[in-house]
Amino acid sequence: MNFLEERIKKDGRVINSNILKVDSFINHQIDPLLMEKVGNELANYFQSKNISRVITVESSGIAPALMTAIKLGVDLVVMKKRTSSILSEDLYQTKVMSFTKGEEYTLTMSKKYIKEGENILIIDDFLANGEAASGMIRIIEEAHANVVGIGILIEKSFQPGRKKLEDKGIDVYSLVRVKSLSNGKVELLEE
Ligand code: 5GP
Repeated sequence: MNFLEERIKKDGRVINSNILKVDSFINHQIDPLLMEKVGNELANYFQSKNISRVITVESSGIAPALMTAIKLGVDLVVMKKRTSSILSEDLYQTKVMSFTKGEEYTLTMSKKYIKEGENILIIDDFLANGEAASGMIRIIEEAHANVVGIGILIEKSFQPGRKKLEDKGIDVYSLVRVKSLSNGKVELLEE
């Protein structure tokens, strides 16, 4: 078991057969040393891809994405889930269905923080149906930049996100792959 699998076994809480709660170390309280290890691991995997920017979506993706960006020595851009009056300039926007809230939000990003031809690495905490990642990809493609990979902390492999992204030819690297959350237990995918 890797370090994140061990931590999930110890502190993760199965809410139901679809949702894993990791509030005590990723989503609410954040373990900074764990995030540093996550960033090192994701950066090592993608380091040969000539990445010029890391992109995530607020808010739980920010900590691991920042640690990855530090290790790669590039900037991090955080896509917003709603527009604010501060974001008055030209924007990219796309609608995304939230897995946890079951409602749509408008993924938003300023056009000035992405450039044509750039190599982008997407980082997020969970991969479920792949909606958040697909929204980020739509915006990156609209900006004529390249998605060189997606780094995920926890992939729920019984949900269709990975397949959706791989069908687009994208390299998906997940630190943990969860096979099932049935019967209140986290079962990991053996590789
Ligand atoms: P997707 O867009 O792939 O359907 O879902 C990914 C997003 O939903 C992630 O950004 C994450 O915030 C949230 N999410 C999906 N599944 C879970 C889960 O089991 N637990 C938690 N805490 N968040 C989840």
